[in-house]
Amino acid sequence: MKRSCVLSILVGGVFFVALVSLYRMLERMQLAEQQHSRTPPAGELDMQDFSRFQQKIDRLERLLGDNNRLVATLRDSLLHHRASWEGARGRGGASVNVSSAPGQADALTGCRVEEELMDGVQLLDVYDLLPFDNPDGGAWKQGFEIHYQGNEWEEQPLELILVPHSHNDPGWLKTFDSYYQDQTKHILNNMLIKLSEDSRRKMIWAEISYFSRWWSDLDEQKRAMVKSLIQSGQLEMVTGGWVMADEANSHYFALLDQLIEGHQWIQRHLGVKPRSGWAIDPFGHSPSMTYLLKGAGLNAMVIQRVHYAVKKHLAQQQTLEFLWRQSWDSSSRSDITCHMMPFYSYDVPHTCGPNPAVCCQFDFHRLPGGRVFCPWRKSPQPITENNVKERALLLLDQYRQKSRLFRTPVLLVPLGDDFRFVESSEWDAQFSNYQKLFDYYEQHPELRIKARFGTLTDYFQALQRHLQAAGTTLPTLRGDFFTYADRDDHYWSGYYTSRPFYKGLDRVLESTLRATEILFSLTLAQMRRFHGDGRLAADFPAREHFLRLIDGRRSLALFQHHDAVTGTARDAVVVDYGSRLFHSILDLHQVLQSSAHWLLLLDKSQYHHDQATPFLQTDDVMAAQDALPQKQTLTLSSEPRSLIVFNPTEQRRSVVVSVLVDMPDAHVVDAETRQTILSQISAVWAEPGRASTESFQLSFVADLPPLSLMVYHVTKASVGSAHRSKYTLLRSDGSEPPPVQAEHFQVSLPRGPEADAPLTLRNKHIQIWASSQSGFLQKLRLQSGLVRQVQIQFLWYGTRSGMNRDRSGAYLFLPGEEGAQLYSSAEPPLVRVSRGPVFSDITSCYRHFTHTVRLHHLDGHAGKSLEISNTVDIRSEVNRELVMRLVSDVASGNRFYSDLNGFQMQQRRSLTKLPLQANFYPMSSASFLQDASSRLSLLSAQSQGVASLRQGELEVVLDRRLHQDDNRGLGQGITDNKLTAARFHMLLEDRGGGAKQVGGGSVSHLSLLAHLSSLSLSHPPITMIGPVNHPLLKLRPFMPLGSSLPCDLHLVNLRTLEDPQETGSPSQEVALLLHRKGFDCSSAPEPEPACTWSAQEEVDLLQVFSPLQFRSLRRSGFTLLREDDEQDSAQQQKPHISNLRPMEISAFRAELK
Ligand SMILES: [Zn+2]
Repeated sequence: MKRSCVLSILVGGVFFVALVSLYRMLERMQLAEQQHSRTPPAGELDMQDFSRFQQKIDRLERLLGDNNRLVATLRDSLLHHRASWEGARGRGGASVNVSSAPGQADALTGCRVEEELMDGVQLLDVYDLLPFDNPDGGAWKQGFEIHYQGNEWEEQPLELILVPHSHNDPGWLKTFDSYYQDQTKHILNNMLIKLSEDSRRKMIWAEISYFSRWWSDLDEQKRAMVKSLIQSGQLEMVTGGWVMADEANSHYFALLDQLIEGHQWIQRHLGVKPRSGWAIDPFGHSPSMTYLLKGAGLNAMVIQRVHYAVKKHLAQQQTLEFLWRQSWDSSSRSDITCHMMPFYSYDVPHTCGPNPAVCCQFDFHRLPGGRVFCPWRKSPQPITENNVKERALLLLDQYRQKSRLFRTPVLLVPLGDDFRFVESSEWDAQFSNYQKLFDYYEQHPELRIKARFGTLTDYFQALQRHLQAAGTTLPTLRGDFFTYADRDDHYWSGYYTSRPFYKGLDRVLESTLRATEILFSLTLAQMRRFHGDGRLAADFPAREHFLRLIDGRRSLALFQHHDAVTGTARDAVVVDYGSRLFHSILDLHQVLQSSAHWLLLLDKSQYHHDQATPFLQTDDVMAAQDALPQKQTLTLSSEPRSLIVFNPTEQRRSVVVSVLVDMPDAHVVDAETRQTILSQISAVWAEPGRASTESFQLSFVADLPPLSLMVYHVTKASVGSAHRSKYTLLRSDGSEPPPVQAEHFQVSLPRGPEADAPLTLRNKHIQIWASSQSGFLQKLRLQSGLVRQVQIQFLWYGTRSGMNRDRSGAYLFLPGEEGAQLYSSAEPPLVRVSRGPVFSDITSCYRHFTHTVRLHHLDGHAGKSLEISNTVDIRSEVNRELVMRLVSDVASGNRFYSDLNGFQMQQRRSLTKLPLQANFYPMSSASFLQDASSRLSLLSAQSQGVASLRQGELEVVLDRRLHQDDNRGLGQGITDNKLTAARFHMLLEDRGGGAKQVGGGSVSHLSLLAHLSSLSLSHPPITMIGPVNHPLLKLRPFMPLGSSLPCDLHLVNLRTLEDPQETGSPSQEVALLLHRKGFDCSSAPEPEPACTWSAQEEVDLLQVFSPLQFRSLRRSGFTLLREDDEQDSAQQQKPHISNLRPMEISAFRAELK
């Protein structure tokens, strides 16, 4: 059968199924309508009828939603059909294989087509549906009146599980250490006493950073008491992460790493494994986190901070409990049971039921005479024989109302708040008063309630029991819970960017940690092999280095806390976090330097560790926790100076390496081959128009094999022998040529019409045009002929004005009514164009930022991305936020895509029914716009807020300076801005014929090139400076891999595990973490990258990592717990042959040979 024939039949088949479904949907709607018409006149309606009526309307609404989706699918398949047909006709009848991938799919085995996965609740559709009108819901302000008959629990009594908890932020208003000393250690000390007093009492704990800190203070007897509380189920570790991580700004590397750190600690010291997740305070929730939790072996979780309108909608549908499924997963493999708290907060007033004035009376920490009270003016009363009946019934009413929002009679009610249970009196007040109420319920079975203290596992087990007994499962849900609003138009989109300096530093530590982990693990394996008997080099400080690694892991882990990377802590706490990040980066450099030293030495006997004067030194130097890194200036002579470049990526790549040297003439050779390397000398600009005379930038093209350490020699060269950048300087008013001092460089200062012509730069792949007035990009043209207008603009947002208005702060973005205002400066900018054989760029120097667009003259795909860097300083401003906007002619409709934690792409729809600030989303590493013929991707090295407010536009927030608190407890504005760098890659690509006209499917992926571009942006090469070449200390390049990993396979980490016997020492085992990325089918990489890929899920890891060898290799859970290790089986005969599915992470416990 001809392929075009197969195409027609396939498309026809899709049509037929869709039409039948549409027909059935309409039939169902009609039925619903008939039932609806049988309802009695309004006057006869009692409350039950109202609620039924409500349910029916909800059902209709749901059906309509389904119907909309179906119509959208029909429309898409029609477009698809037409595009394929036209494509096929255009190619003279050549056919397209629709079933795998449209367009250029033939060249792209293993890619992923855009999809609409239609089962269950799709949150994108919920957003389309909701009016976001925020009506007053009565006692439950953001909800509705809840009704019940009283006979709902006749068959099965209400099963209440009250879960005591204390939310301990590892830094917010106080530092981690201050909180520990003032509150947390008392909470945990009292827990030990108070839980031991009565076996019915329970407690959950989430933050392992605190728990491990406390553990180090305990004697053996107390440790044994803790273990027995855990064994008996009275104390449960929930989630088990180092912190309760932020889910918007954190990259999945760090999310997973803090989970591994916590789980490994728990396994080693407590011998258990967390089963349930608890994330009650992060400001919005991401499915990337649920994916990691599922992979770590958790099967259920609780979340809280979700947009109030979404909560209300899900409550109306009884869908607050659901199976959260990954958007891209067509199976149920990634499903995790999720319980969403229905009300405003996780405190006691908002958890017992819908009425906070009533619930507050059951927070016995607020008994009269204490420090906290109920703002609803009704105080709690101690439970006595006299009031127990009245109190028990009042509380039961709340429990019953809350229960009506869920599908089973089992009810989860948390009991706790921030830093609760500090004093022993609070333990007594809460536990003894609740016990009296529970006893009363037990004595009155006619009330049909069984109540007890419990943990999350108690709750979820009861839930599963009820679901199984009823023979039902929970509905599935796909999507994410951004952007969070807790009331009115208060959207929490400000924290996506707050304190951008530290969001950048977070990623610097992250990439440094990953690079160090990998190099350290490879070093230990090489040493053991070198010595033959498993010994390490005698002088190599393996244990000290491993402790530095652990410290680095824990600094990064702590910073993932939802008040750290979010930028929502007090100034002094930010400095504390910053110092930890800074010191960890310095410590990790030591590990990197001495690992590289040993690996590179030809004669290993010459290895000597000297901490005071290291053999190699990283060339980036950070002077303080709040300073951008500076490069040290190398002194050159005719004796070759060694430069070591480490490529921390699993891909061979051509990359431009830059160092500073003390003269404008330098020569670079490959130390091994003696070949001269193409290089370029550029000016180091001390001021916009004044070049340094002491320092020059030497840039050269390094060809770096995967995970290699390459050695280059730099020497002084004869005067004028090096390629020097040529400069053109412009000042847009044209009156006066800009003052220039750059004696070693050729500088032209065009005037008149010559100065007004657009600036243009080009390499083999791309040509760009920029305005000579502003220096900003205007247009791009690809080699293929594709031309796109892409104008870069800078704009300011202000905040609301007027005395009583809420204004933007650390959490909230509340822009002024005027919206964004185009950036303008009184003084025209200095525009500097540089041209050279290695790179060319255009730099615009403004008062508040320096903006550079650079093209690298590289042959491979690395030359296709445009590098954009901004150095921002808004310290002179009051209540302003600076954004960079791309204005393009990409017909993207109201859709764009942004990533979630660098792990997956999520479709976004910009909705006019929502306020401006609601249309901002988190961007951890990538976003893109697309239409039928092109895709414009913006990749970033740091996280920030992103929006597409109009078709073709994409904007990212660079920094925010806000002079007031936004009333979420922080008690200050954010005015500790720094000189901050933001780095991006921009990538324009052609799309194949099968691409959808506008927007695209709800499930879409980065292109292969975008993945590779993002990889090199996030993991830059690390340059180290060696001593002057010495014959005894000859260095030889280190190349552990024979070839690049497949393009879509990312080595997430190679993390040395701790010795099970010897705390603080490295074991021979490593965690090998791999992520097989999903990539889009509509753009084939052009030129083809050096790496290969295949459509097969089965991968031979021995082949992939050759010539590295494994002594053992065993698949495990994501956090490498022993009990998650795959058992020996018949298939395990070849453990190196493993299924790596697209989009999925795989974890292995391995021993390198
Ligand atoms: Zn918190």
